[in-house]
Amino acid sequence: MEHKALPLHSHLATLPVYQPGRPLEEVARGLGIPFDRVTKLASNENPLGPSPKAVMAMKKAAESAHLYPDGNGYYLKEKLAALHQLQRSQIILSNGSNELIEWIGHVLLDNRSNIVVSQYCFAIYPIVAAMFGAQSKIVPATDFGHDLEGMLQAVDASTKAVFVANPNNPTGTLVNAEALRTFVSQIPSHVLVVLDEAYVEYLEDAADFVEVVRSGAMPNLLLMRTFSKIYGLAGCRLGYGMASTSLVAAMEKVRQPFNANSMAQSGALAALDDQEHLERSRQVNREGLTQLQEGVLAMGLSFVPSSANFVLVRVGQGKEVFQAMQRQGIIVRPMDGYQLPSWVRVSVGTQAQNQRFLKKLSDVLE
Ligand SMILES: *Cc1c(COP(=O)(O)O)cnc(C)c1O
Repeated sequence: MEHKALPLHSHLATLPVYQPGRPLEEVARGLGIPFDRVTKLASNENPLGPSPKAVMAMKKAAESAHLYPDGNGYYLKEKLAALHQLQRSQIILSNGSNELIEWIGHVLLDNRSNIVVSQYCFAIYPIVAAMFGAQSKIVPATDFGHDLEGMLQAVDASTKAVFVANPNNPTGTLVNAEALRTFVSQIPSHVLVVLDEAYVEYLEDAADFVEVVRSGAMPNLLLMRTFSKIYGLAGCRLGYGMASTSLVAAMEKVRQPFNANSMAQSGALAALDDQEHLERSRQVNREGLTQLQEGVLAMGLSFVPSSANFVLVRVGQGKEVFQAMQRQGIIVRPMDGYQLPSWVRVSVGTQAQNQRFLKKLSDVLE
């Protein structure tokens, strides 16, 4: 029989591939050392780990792992609804907040549409747009952050969604709360406004957009949250969206029935109850940010002042520094994929990890 290749979607040929932080075990294997000798500061994970209460709850949940999860996440939605003073129907659970981004594609995007994003935006937004054949209109950054006016002007009749991560990853920049409020209110009602709040819990005084969802004033607003960052549950893959009942209902239709697994749901429920762990994580991060920023400054390096749990540092040859650091057992994130080849992104670790990073960076740069 004649051999014919599968008729794969043609846009896959040029679809960019997301480059995650390198896993500890993989790097340790490559270096031939035990994995506890490697320090990973590459994926903005909580260096304190999950709340011990969450770990206990997940161990307990493991005993029921033969049962399918509650696909509706009754208890977790109930708890989140109480926390944010929303209706349960305004909340949707996702397999990491990345899954929410994919649903935006399913409910809105096709090859006649575009999304508006900022230069140095989270890499998944343009990848998902491309998956659905949609264009990404990339608005040049100002001081590494969002040019909200430029983004507003880029919105056209084919625009289906605009994305603002606040704080932004990988730059750590924060937009002014008032400017963001104005921006959100000016976006036309046919365009979905996505506020990615993956790092919002690190802020002392965050602008409150939940209030806008609660009021019902903007059926085209989606807030994205995650348990991967300050809650230290990245391995569980759990995020959630907050939006109008109508948008949540649309996304519920494209959601796989058991996307949020039972251990993740149990862990998240317990994590939400551990205010002490949350506060300690915030404090360790605050101190670690200062330590890292003062440390690189003392080495004469420039950095982008960060509002999140990582810092973008200008090291010269980013990829080479990344590789040299890796040989020293420290994983950071090279930024060439973000068109920032002279930078690396380092996540805030424990005080000892930050110290180790600064020492090795100084060695490597000599
Ligand atoms: C880490 C991160 C997420 C969260 O990803 P998960 O899928 O929830 O692990 C979302 N948006 C941004 C900007 C991030 O940095």
